[in-house]
Amino acid sequence: MDFSLSMEQNILRESVRAFAEKEIKPVAQQLDETETFSYELTKAMGELGLFGVFVSEAYGGQELDYLSYIIAVEELARVDASQAATVAAGNSLGVGPIYYFGSEEQKRKYLPKLCTGEMLWGFGLTEPNAGSDAAGCHTHAVMDGDTWVINGSKIFITNAATDISGGITVMARTAKRDDGRNELTCFLVESGTPGFTAQPMHGKMMWRASNTSILYFEDCRVPKENMLGERGKGFHQMLSTLDGGRLSIGAMGLGGAQGCYELAMKYAKERVQFGRPISTFQANAFKLADMAMEIECARLLLYRACWLRNQNKPFTREAAMAKLYCSEVMGRAANHAVQLHGGYGLMKEYDVERFYRDQKLLEIGEGTSEILRIVIARLIGAF
Ligand SMILES: Cc1cc2nc3c(=O)[nH]c(=O)nc-3n(C[C@H](O)[C@H](O)[C@H](O)COP(=O)(O)OP(=O)(O)OC[C@H]3O[C@@H](n4cnc5c(N)ncnc54)[C@H](O)[C@@H]3O)c2cc1C
Repeated sequence: MDFSLSMEQNILRESVRAFAEKEIKPVAQQLDETETFSYELTKAMGELGLFGVFVSEAYGGQELDYLSYIIAVEELARVDASQAATVAAGNSLGVGPIYYFGSEEQKRKYLPKLCTGEMLWGFGLTEPNAGSDAAGCHTHAVMDGDTWVINGSKIFITNAATDISGGITVMARTAKRDDGRNELTCFLVESGTPGFTAQPMHGKMMWRASNTSILYFEDCRVPKENMLGERGKGFHQMLSTLDGGRLSIGAMGLGGAQGCYELAMKYAKERVQFGRPISTFQANAFKLADMAMEIECARLLLYRACWLRNQNKPFTREAAMAKLYCSEVMGRAANHAVQLHGGYGLMKEYDVERFYRDQKLLEIGEGTSEILRIVIARLIGAF
């Protein structure tokens, strides 16, 4: 076994870390406070090559392996979850479905702009009445001549309602199968298509500088060429996209936990009570030791899942485990970090307060912790 990273992966980590420290850290708290999506940071992250990381150069991507992409997300999340979310959703959920399932024409049309971050693209799976049970989707599409007519709505969709959102991959019911289940198909719907509206959602507890939206489709017509891949393959496309997406949520958990750990360690060594740094009290040192150990475990689990993906081996089980474990590690790390900060950890001027809030989404988005335990239990043959 060789656990070392390649020279390119180390250079990427250093450059993303330097960027996050210099450009994101100084503004993260204010963007969070004002719920502002930053076009400047999105542009800068695009210039750094952080969108379309695993896409081939032929379509404008960086053509790096999946672990490189995961390291980039980890380093962004070490400083700010909102910017990490914009990049993770941009790559895994925006670029992913078009790159893996799109026609040559669709790839040439959309990917070059998505890979530079000039344009963002949403992934429309969740609906007001179909969250964990995504196959129970109500949004439907019917064929009328040469167009599909879509009606329905989607909720909590990342990157779909910014000024640079180019459109959305939307899953819709296209028929009932003989066995009574829905036939599900994906479509690419461009922003500005009549009948399609994307409204930003405000008042989030976490990821407040990331764009989240509610989408409405009212007799929205798209040409038949906008179907993604084959009719009836929509659910498979979405689940396969989520396997990769879960690795990026894992990276957000890992990076966020690392950020919490570093903030907690620094503070605990500086803060003096009873005449000594609080890090020297065993109760606190053990918290730091647990954080360090769990971060190591999380990193090994996540990187191995990426390795499997890079080798084109099955990785659904490992992706589910990595997403579940990394998100819960960050939950514990954020809790310890706030505890170690005492009252100051509850104040907005301390970054751990934001990390504590941002963590929660990781246990809900792209499969809740309960659903992931069901996925893992099924894959290990428990039922
Ligand atoms: C900020 C944000 C960004 C998001 N971005 C996107 C996006 O880009 N695209 C997208 O499509 N979606 C997105 N989502 C949606 C997200 O994936 C869903 O919120 C998530 O899948 C859960 O669905 P739900 O909220 O409807 O919860 P529900 O499915 O209603 O679940 C509620 C609770 O019931 C539990 N539960 C449900 N079923 C079971 C069961 N069978 N057994 C045990 N427990 C169960 C769940 O674990 C959860 O605790 C985003 C959400 C947020 C908040």
